[in-house]
Amino acid sequence: MVKLRVAISEQRDASYDIVIGRGLLADLPAFVKAACPAGRYVVITDSHVAKLYGKQVMARFHDAKLQVESLEFPAGERNKTRETWALLSDRMLAAQIGRDSAVIALGGGVVGDVAGFVAATYLRGIPCVQVPTTLLAMIDSSIGGKTGVDVPAGKNLLGAFHQPRLVVADLDVLGSLPPPQLAAGMAEAVKHGVIADRQYFDVLEQEHAAVTTRDVGALERVVRRSVEIKAEVVAADEREAGRRAILNFGHTVAHAIEATTQFATLHGEAVAIGMAYEARLAEALGIAEAGTADRVQRLLERYNLPLDLPESATVEALVAAMQLDKKARDGSVRFALPQTIGRMYADGKSWTVAAPENVVRDVLGEPKGGPA
Ligand code: NAD
Repeated sequence: MVKLRVAISEQRDASYDIVIGRGLLADLPAFVKAACPAGRYVVITDSHVAKLYGKQVMARFHDAKLQVESLEFPAGERNKTRETWALLSDRMLAAQIGRDSAVIALGGGVVGDVAGFVAATYLRGIPCVQVPTTLLAMIDSSIGGKTGVDVPAGKNLLGAFHQPRLVVADLDVLGSLPPPQLAAGMAEAVKHGVIADRQYFDVLEQEHAAVTTRDVGALERVVRRSVEIKAEVVAADEREAGRRAILNFGHTVAHAIEATTQFATLHGEAVAIGMAYEARLAEALGIAEAGTADRVQRLLERYNLPLDLPESATVEALVAAMQLDKKARDGSVRFALPQTIGRMYADGKSWTVAAPENVVRDVLGEPKGGPA
């Protein structure tokens, strides 16, 4: 078992541990009791995860003589809505869940975001423990305290920062993850290599066979290094005032794809496509070293990730969706872009770049691999 600390510099009491290891679900009540003591716990999960791990987790809480309720909602990004947030909150009010209670978010990024937002707002905020069950949630969404829901105007547009009290990542649950979901998680791992660690990017190139066949040692190395990178970036910039913006590499295009295709593409797949295009945008703007985009694309392909825009995502619709993105400022769309593998561009004032719309349109209009 490995324990890493997210040491929030702006707010010391918001610091928390991330535990990574095998078989940790069995000890979840003990971890939770120590890091987040509460009178009652509410396990929030989705319909898939409830079937796979819900009973086991509830039984452990009962064995430990802890008061626990469980709430579930239908799985899928389409349900990361304010309606789900309202339904869960109302059910908690009806069950008279009090201020001395805590939420346990058991599931992927959708559960983590919705349950975290419920915890952030319920009775003006109760503690939350994140128990991520997808690779993407382990290495990305469970860390950093961003919670929220999607609305018709775009992704994650309503939400709150609410740091978890603890994150528990049990590597064993990755065994039941469908292959496209594992690949989707690897898109965020590739992002971590690009934004912060060239050596890690090299390791991901070498270990793709071990990772895709779910060698536990290889998965543990990925989770550990990615968690270290994400934890280091968010700890120094809790509310995304500065360098944390580098985590958005690939995400300006990704969020636009998700919004225009009504979430037909998995988040991680959209991030892969987004990184392929944004790396080429970085080269087109003269920011990235030549060859950066090719290397990013080759690695994404190795992990069976898509690189092309979905057919239904027209350049017109994507540009319109980007204007609505949280990262847009003063009417211009901003991107976090790499200079090279392992280093992101900054101009001294900002870690994001306002790209001229005509260049964005040109890059989005090019077929995979860029111009001939
Ligand atoms: P997800 O939560 O929808 O999970 C994917 C699917 O896998 C779901 O059907 C789920 O039920 C199922 N599943 C979960 N764990 C499983 C397991 N162990 N075995 C089998 N099936 C399992 O999607 P995701 O990819 O985990 O998360 C994507 C979401 O995370 C997006 O909404 C994205 O915006 C959000 N996100 C948030 C942050 C953040 O900082 N808060 C960062 C990145 C992504």
